[in-house]
Amino acid sequence: MINESMRVLGARRSVIRELFEYGKKRKAEIGAENVYDFSLGNPSVPAPEAVSEAMTALISEESPISLHGYTSAQGDAGVRAAIAEYINRTHGESVNADCLYMTVGAAAALTSTLTGLVMPGEEVIVPTPYFPEYKVFIERFGGVIREVPTRECDLKLDVSAIEAAISEKTAAIIINSPNNPTGVVYDEENIKELTDMLSRREKELGKVIYLISDEPYRELVYGDATVPYLTKYYDDTVVCYSYSKSLSLPGERIGYVLVCPRIRDFLSVYQAVCGAARALGYVCAPSLLQKILPRLLGMTADISVYDKNRRLLVESLTEYGYELIRPEGAFYLFIKSPSGDGEEFSERAKSEEILIVPGADFGSKEYARLSYCVKTEQIEAALPAFKRLIESYKD
Ligand code: PLP
Repeated sequence: MINESMRVLGARRSVIRELFEYGKKRKAEIGAENVYDFSLGNPSVPAPEAVSEAMTALISEESPISLHGYTSAQGDAGVRAAIAEYINRTHGESVNADCLYMTVGAAAALTSTLTGLVMPGEEVIVPTPYFPEYKVFIERFGGVIREVPTRECDLKLDVSAIEAAISEKTAAIIINSPNNPTGVVYDEENIKELTDMLSRREKELGKVIYLISDEPYRELVYGDATVPYLTKYYDDTVVCYSYSKSLSLPGERIGYVLVCPRIRDFLSVYQAVCGAARALGYVCAPSLLQKILPRLLGMTADISVYDKNRRLLVESLTEYGYELIRPEGAFYLFIKSPSGDGEEFSERAKSEEILIVPGADFGSKEYARLSYCVKTEQIEAALPAFKRLIESYKD
């Protein structure tokens, strides 16, 4: 006997992976420079040099036994203290090392938080469109995903729709800003509206509703956009953070859970996150990756390339007649299918050797997602193909 639901998960490649594999095959057939691959959200700028410098310094400074040994399950105390101090300095918070739990990226932060805080049968509200792994993470332990559409005009949070979805069964809501797949950043007004409503509903229902803030793209914002720090608006907040995108380190797997010090029953919540991470077998986050962090706080990879790509794409595609949501963060562009069907759009794009992901897997059938964490030259080369693609809808 096996766990059939796990077998199905393992056997079925995600649509993104499927497209990536198709791209690999096509590149072998016609040459990589002739395939315009916008499928994956893999950072395309290198990690800052300070990353390898920090690793080299640690290797020569620290004994291999302590450098490569287990850290405590929560993470190295000095590392957590340095991150706590950085959060306080940057966001005017008052967290300490014991609010933090180091994880293997945001994915592990999310699974530990969800498993620790939500009971089987309880609901987790997820605004659509959303990162498809949320569904896998929630359903894995018997939680129920409750999808709630965002506002049609700008894909920001539709607070009335979220309020209508809240019930006795609601345990948590996940929000992700800057957003994958839309690039939308929820502004302070939108966040205040949400957190005021959640505070009111908590009182009316007499129960906690956790706000889980998934933040792998926090630093990837452009122009005047700012990303409000959610613990300052709502005490029952848990932040799931990752260095995968800000430092271009997605394969190294490092991030953390931050439990707001003012969350209801702080100690029990923190212990539940620790217990869930233990039950999931995480043991501790990679030691070397933890220990480089105090030397890198506040640094990012050179994200100016993403901004350049964003401007080029938004300007050109809008001029050709595409309808799109102007992204303010992350490195994704959500484009409305000219036919109204994202699947058809993604298929048709392949005839121009353009790879974009249909929106259905993110919960928005009419759109497709384009990842612009690619070389600017790829975008420049792809623009004539994008022009032909939209013209093909006018025939
Ligand atoms: N959440 C969102 C919205 C993401 O886009 C990703 C990765 O692409 C993750 C979480 C997982 O990030 P990590 O690599 O830190 O596990």
